[in-house]
Amino acid sequence: MLNDIALWPTTLTDLMIDYIIRKKPNNIGNIETLKSVYKDRAQVHYRGLPYDHFYRKKINGVKEERNWLVFSETSKAVYCYPCKLFSATSSKLLTGFQNWKTITATLSSHEISKEHILAMCTLYKRSSKFNRIDSQQLQKREHEELYWRKVLKRERE
Ligand SMILES: [Zn+2]
Repeated sequence: MLNDIALWPTTLTDLMIDYIIRKKPNNIGNIETLKSVYKDRAQVHYRGLPYDHFYRKKINGVKEERNWLVFSETSKAVYCYPCKLFSATSSKLLTGFQNWKTITATLSSHEISKEHILAMCTLYKRSSKFNRIDSQQLQKREHEELYWRKVLKRERE
């Protein structure tokens, strides 16, 4: 049940949170089935979710994985899992976002929001207590934490 973000209980215990952090939520099902429906007068359109959204293009042109974004075929929606774990905002990315028409803007404003950055910091801080990760992974995590700290600092200035 905890493997599928769409099926998480509303209240998560500390044990559940640790389990989720350790495993990192997987995408559930096939992205091809995530279609949103739009009605335009008598016509019905289906729009798919391009996998491109799982990457963010940095100013220097480098593609970076949005490792916080997960989808679930169960609810046909995408989620921000660190925010779902640690943030109390009312973002649709916590309850399941499915409007592919506005997803580009939603994701780019979400990832620079203060709530999201704080949730990312909490995630890295909390995951660092699992010391059974190899040094390469650890290095990557420290690098990421440093990155989010810098972003946060920039936001505050
Ligand atoms: Zn978030």
